[in-house]
Amino acid sequence: MDESDAGSVDRRGFIKGAAAGALAAGSPGVLHAQDHQDMPSDPALRVKALESVLVEKGLVESAALDVLVDTFENRVGPRNGAQVVARAWVDPAYKQRLLDDGTAAMAEFGFSGWQGEKLTVVENTPTVHNVIVCTLCSCYPWPLLGLAPTWYKSDAYRARTVVDPRGVLRELGLQVSDEIEVRVWDSNAASRYLVLPERPEGTDSLSEEQLAALVSRDAMIGVAKVESTVDGDAP
Ligand code: FE
Repeated sequence: MDESDAGSVDRRGFIKGAAAGALAAGSPGVLHAQDHQDMPSDPALRVKALESVLVEKGLVESAALDVLVDTFENRVGPRNGAQVVARAWVDPAYKQRLLDDGTAAMAEFGFSGWQGEKLTVVENTPTVHNVIVCTLCSCYPWPLLGLAPTWYKSDAYRARTVVDPRGVLRELGLQVSDEIEVRVWDSNAASRYLVLPERPEGTDSLSEEQLAALVSRDAMIGVAKVESTVDGDAP
């Protein structure tokens, strides 16, 4: 509590200083002329300048912004999704609930909120590989995966995944053989998706927690497989 309060104060102080600097400079071009090795990028400065103005005009509250920042820095992220996946691997009844109603099943862990209102979980099998995309913008299951990676939001990924999913997966390092059906799920405001990856071979002796440590964000998007590290070092 004390730590996060201190962080909030620091952040606000930084925001104010950064905003003043950006506004005084007048334009990003002027900023470029200065030696600002330790300064954040121009877009970051602009965001902070905007935030400062909104706060000063009373349009948003710093405390509300801090809650948002804390949520996406600390409370949501791929480790949430990994917990859900590992549970589904060890508990067949949970897996069934997850496939039947993803939103209700993730709520069993206390995961809910923005972009998680309607979660559909799609299962990879030896004959089907699933991959998720949002062709329109960047819809993504925030409560389970956090904020989307930049490439997920790129025009190339959004446009090409629906046209040539095998090619996109290959470029991302995942070879899917022709015998395996590739299903592409286009996220939208009504439904966000999560891929339930296949449990890797040779992981029978692992605990649920150890299994969760194997599950990557990319595997839950469907652009990677979960690899076992059992033969080598423990996860
Ligand atoms: Fe979208």
